[in-house]
Amino acid sequence: MGSVFNDYTLLSRLIFAINTVGHIFLSLTQFTSVVKRFVYGQNPEEANFNDPTHIDESKTFAAETESLLEICPSLKETNNPDFKKFHDFTLACGLPLGTVLVSERQSCRKCTKSLTLDKKEHLIVIYHSEHGTYLGNRLTKNCRRCKIYEHYGYWTQGGKKYFDADCLKNDYLLSTEDTAFQVSLLRQCENLLIVGAVAFSTFTRSYNRRFGYVKHLTRPQSSLLSPVNINEKRSPLL
Ligand SMILES: [Zn+2]
Repeated sequence: MGSVFNDYTLLSRLIFAINTVGHIFLSLTQFTSVVKRFVYGQNPEEANFNDPTHIDESKTFAAETESLLEICPSLKETNNPDFKKFHDFTLACGLPLGTVLVSERQSCRKCTKSLTLDKKEHLIVIYHSEHGTYLGNRLTKNCRRCKIYEHYGYWTQGGKKYFDADCLKNDYLLSTEDTAFQVSLLRQCENLLIVGAVAFSTFTRSYNRRFGYVKHLTRPQSSLLSPVNINEKRSPLL
């Protein structure tokens, strides 16, 4: 079993696991064992927690994870603080990069020539079920010959806009040139509408209350129930 520090794939899986479950998994050896199996891509059905070799490997894995947490103490923080820190930092730089939306397409859908990435960034407002409303950017690719402009989830040609057939499989939906919705947020809205006949206006009030977009505040901002309160200057959801 090689060290996680010698393999970027292992390291990225470990960071993902820490971000997902938290470093609490180090508190119980059986938890550590499961995470170790995930990180190393081992067969989950072969788990034998009493195997001495497996126990030794789990101890080594736990020690390496502890080392990683020493090197990167921010990994111990919960509630996704890195997103807020990163978003606010990029905002302070004048170039918000909370999320950057760009088409993954590399070649023109008509002539198959390589697409050119337009260097001009476009500021967008993003509505997200966990982060609330924040600022990001979108980029455009184009084929100069065909005059096709590829955006995240759609393309334009001759002044007309065409959505990709699978655009709702993306994480975000660019509804306008400067607005994107997290698709998961739209799914929540859709489900509440179908199951409970919850009106869109009720959904938006719930969203705005959750993230502190309340007009005419009668109490201090700090007392609002806003778990990721990055949104003081951002737009409410309609
Ligand atoms: Zn082309």
